[in-house]
Amino acid sequence: MTEHLYYHDSFLYEFEAEVLDLATASNSDSRPAVILDRTTFYPTSGGQVFDTGWLVPGETKGRLRVTEVIEREDGQILHVVEDAGSIHKGTRVHGQIDVDRRRDHMQQHSGQHVLSAAFIRLFDLPTVSFHMGVDSCSIDLDTKSLTAAQVEAAEALANDVVTQNRAVSIRFVTQEEAQSLGLRKIPPVERDKLRLIDVHDFDLTACGGTHVSATGQIGCILLRKTEKTRQGWRVEFVCGKRAVATARHDYSVLAESGGLLSSHIWDIPQQLRKLQEEARAARKSGEHLLEELAGLHAIRLLAETPDSGSRKIIIRTFPDRDLTFIKLLAQKLTRQSAGVVALLGTTSEPPALVFAQSPGQPFDMGGLVKEMLARLGGRGGGSRDMAQGGPTQVEGLEAALNEIAARLRG
Ligand SMILES: [Zn+2]
Repeated sequence: MTEHLYYHDSFLYEFEAEVLDLATASNSDSRPAVILDRTTFYPTSGGQVFDTGWLVPGETKGRLRVTEVIEREDGQILHVVEDAGSIHKGTRVHGQIDVDRRRDHMQQHSGQHVLSAAFIRLFDLPTVSFHMGVDSCSIDLDTKSLTAAQVEAAEALANDVVTQNRAVSIRFVTQEEAQSLGLRKIPPVERDKLRLIDVHDFDLTACGGTHVSATGQIGCILLRKTEKTRQGWRVEFVCGKRAVATARHDYSVLAESGGLLSSHIWDIPQQLRKLQEEARAARKSGEHLLEELAGLHAIRLLAETPDSGSRKIIIRTFPDRDLTFIKLLAQKLTRQSAGVVALLGTTSEPPALVFAQSPGQPFDMGGLVKEMLARLGGRGGGSRDMAQGGPTQVEGLEAALNEIAARLRG
């Protein structure tokens, strides 16, 4: 079996090893993988994601890129490589992990231990799971409620612990010893020896991950989004350099928003509320004006359209009005006068038709709209007195309207 060098020293970035075997990433994944007698590459487990890095065979010049590290069900650690090259059983290799990636993982994972302990200390809220993502991490708390004040308090305590630069040490104990130590979390699996991560006088928990040696190395712990899940509450957080990068990103977004609003970033919410109110007022006033315009338009159309027998048949196509307007106009026309048939269309995008008649008129608007659409394509329909449709083409719309109007005039 592979010796887990990372169990004893998270800061061991390079090592010498011998190839024990070659394998594939899994039965269904044919990427080549290398098994070593010892490794400092951390495989994905316990919420922490894998290390990446290189394996350099002694006798050749090339180096193999380790793209993923997997702990197989039988406990073997698989170093997935792009190409196994000339490597074979017995090859001596020099291993190097990606140091920036390891440091980042140590900051996130140790930060998680401190944060989980802070939620326990302050509010007795246990962490049930930990997820390390590419951009941010999260813990799931077993609780029915979580307030903003609790989040702020846990963040403050966690950062106090960072500032105190408490020692973080690794210990191995038996299951029996572990029971008497009052661990925050004991894994359910039966193992002879448990590996404990001890944040001096603050948190003691069983964990196989790679951790900082003092809390100051975490840098800082920044809590972000919280959301209710089925089981409890999820708290998103970022630590160390990720926290700085995230704050930098947030600031540039805020600064750009502030620039657009010509305001200080702290005044953005107030400015946005003002804009929302203005937009709402403008919308209302626009609707009001449109209604008034449709009313006036209706009066003019009724005045300038001669009677066809006992009724007025009004046809009109607009190049620059939308469905809302022609619908309003149709309503005004057929309500302001008893004997009106209005056949209205708009050729602006998207084109639309609205046919309406005053109550008691003898035609079928729904049927006429369907007849139009059979010629122009598109969908629509409605009742006897009011119907609308969206033709797919506007060519021939006006001619078709005139044709129908001529027919209705008799
Ligand atoms: Zn852990």
